[in-house]
Amino acid sequence: ISDDEFDALVRREEELEQKYPEFLHAWRIESGLDQTATRSGRIGSSLVSSSSSSSSSSSSSSSSSSSQSNDNTNTNTLISISIITEPKLDGVSLSLHYETKEEFSSIIDDDNDEVSLDLRWASTRGDGKIGQDVTATAKQISGIPLRIQLPLSSLSSSQLHNNNVNKTFAIEVRGEVVLPRSEFLRLQLEREEENITTTDNSDNTNKTVNSTSSSTTITSFSNSRNAASGILLRKDPKNPEEEQIQSNELRSLLQFYAYDISGLLQPRDNNRINTHRDEDDSTNLATATTTATKLNKDGTKRQSRSSSSPKSEYDWGDFDVDGCVHKVSEATIKAAMGYSMKSPKWAVAHKFPAQSAVSRLLDIVVQVGRTGALTPVAILEPVEVNGVTIQRATLHNFGHLKEILGGDNDDDKIPKYEPVLIRRAGDVIPQVIKRIQGSDVDVGVDKDKWISLEPPKSCPACGSPVTYDTSSSSASSIGQVTRCNGPPLLCPPRAVTSLKHAFSRDALDITGLSESRIQQLMDADFLRYPNDIFQMEDSKWGDIAALPGWGEKSGKNLRGSSEKVATNGITLSRFIFSLGIRHVGKHTSELVASSYGTVEAFLVALDTAAQENTESSEQYRPFPQLQNKLGIGPVMVESLLAFSKTAELSAAKDLAESLNVLEEDVVVDEDSSETDSLSTESTNKSNQPWKGFRVVFTGSLDGMTRSEAQRIAKQLGAKSTPGSVSKSTDLVVYGEKGGKKLEQAQELGVTTMYAQDFI
Ligand SMILES: [Zn+2]
Repeated sequence: ISDDEFDALVRREEELEQKYPEFLHAWRIESGLDQTATRSGRIGSSLVSSSSSSSSSSSSSSSSSSSQSNDNTNTNTLISISIITEPKLDGVSLSLHYETKEEFSSIIDDDNDEVSLDLRWASTRGDGKIGQDVTATAKQISGIPLRIQLPLSSLSSSQLHNNNVNKTFAIEVRGEVVLPRSEFLRLQLEREEENITTTDNSDNTNKTVNSTSSSTTITSFSNSRNAASGILLRKDPKNPEEEQIQSNELRSLLQFYAYDISGLLQPRDNNRINTHRDEDDSTNLATATTTATKLNKDGTKRQSRSSSSPKSEYDWGDFDVDGCVHKVSEATIKAAMGYSMKSPKWAVAHKFPAQSAVSRLLDIVVQVGRTGALTPVAILEPVEVNGVTIQRATLHNFGHLKEILGGDNDDDKIPKYEPVLIRRAGDVIPQVIKRIQGSDVDVGVDKDKWISLEPPKSCPACGSPVTYDTSSSSASSIGQVTRCNGPPLLCPPRAVTSLKHAFSRDALDITGLSESRIQQLMDADFLRYPNDIFQMEDSKWGDIAALPGWGEKSGKNLRGSSEKVATNGITLSRFIFSLGIRHVGKHTSELVASSYGTVEAFLVALDTAAQENTESSEQYRPFPQLQNKLGIGPVMVESLLAFSKTAELSAAKDLAESLNVLEEDVVVDEDSSETDSLSTESTNKSNQPWKGFRVVFTGSLDGMTRSEAQRIAKQLGAKSTPGSVSKSTDLVVYGEKGGKKLEQAQELGVTTMYAQDFI
């Protein structure tokens, strides 16, 4: 049992003692224990857990550097020591070794003021063991200079002898490699967005959803430290250039903060380097101290000194800090104190205690995220942890949930009120650490009421079936994300993404709608489907302007943007793209639009597909117009078919109704039509009586589909077969119910032809 856990149980016990003193009495008599005796042993035990350097002050095996310093230190007078406190970054420890190219004798002979030391190698440091060589990766990390310029005066001649195995200068820099939390979160978001684009809007039907991209591997880590370690230790990919680029990008996100330049820097007579801060300044290394100084309370920032650490001005809130380190600042005193085997004696680490508490499990609810991920959340008996009342805690995913709550027998359910250990570290969301099983603690557990640990079969938000990230058909493996597999627009938590796509510039082109604003409008019940923005009642525009963060102008702009689109209309391809149909990206939308010409024809095709497929005739191929279309494969056709069978279709129809969807020219691929049986009739290209014509079809064509007719017209030489009649139209072929277009043709004096004659 860990200290954390013990302390949490002690606190729980104290609460119970106060609440039920009557039981306390009986228990004491029974067990014969005295109250003071039960507690005294553990007081404060968890508060200071790490003080790596202070404990072994009597060690005589310290490195040789300490013996050299007495020349400069007057040990007989009282000296004041300044202590610097640095945040202790929770990252991966790295040791950098810098060395001069030339031998020190030639450096001194040349009468240089400065020496340059180049990065020779970098390695991780395990618990005092030899770490892994990560030199190549380290060279790409922000904050690790490839070369350090040092004033010669900062190196004492006595130091040289200690370190000149190869007769060169050498220093060792130790520090922490960290991945800022914001970057970690961004990678996670990007990965999720990547999934959306590869599945939903890609023209490349062969892409697999979960390609083993770098961000996939990185974001499968639970926190930024593990992710930093993952990036650092990641091997260079063997071949694909793309992965190499990704690898480089990831490495450039890492940052290095130095906390110690080991023993080798020493003041000479004219102390150039006096304090810890001077070390930072002279080496151009970003350290936690200097970076913290930059963020002074008055907001004044010091000029960034070094191009090698351009991103060093982070708020420490962006890093996982698990404690602080108190250090002696003066170089002379540091040198006098020296090192123990593993760590400097002039620094003491203080680790923040994690805050734990025992609560009881009331329920497990499932939250649906914006990307469709289903996250189990524990509902807890309210408990106070460090001043904050905790009532909910994340369980990450169902694999993880099963592991921590499944108990010894890998149960698929857990009794209500079962005690659980929860933890809250810093600002991080509280977590359930484990289930506490045992006869002493489960008093009050309701064995008649059970909470299931199984993932739901359908999405709690929209009822669609769920899927899992990998091919495995259950959520049992840890880290596995359960997802809603329904159409995103119909699943309210996921609709934000769909709406954002629908309003994007290449789709409906409504300006001024960021994701957060869309969320706001959804929360306020103004927006649920794309069409709502065009159907907004007059009075509601005022309400929107009154929303927090909006204002008169934003409301007006949004209204103006939607009215502009409503007036000007939208092309059919934009309309199709806005629907966010899987695999139907921008280019595919254009292809589909050029196959149907009008939104009516497109919607009829969807309706037909939805209905005919239910007869499950083997002969039936949905969307015959698209079958031979270049650039449209069976996966996209499947996708359209799937779309046609969901309620998304009616949302699309509503949108089509309130928008003026412009017609587009129908284009038939010449190449693909040759595979058609009809093409044999017209292989003779000179036989093209309709050469260069613009031919419009209207009304019923007596058994022939519109697209067949269009194809024949093309074979007869027609240049295009637009959906609407205009002055440039050469011929209108009309059938039954030809109505409006026929009238237009007659008004414009365009030649007409009866369908029967055409056939
Ligand atoms: Zn759903």
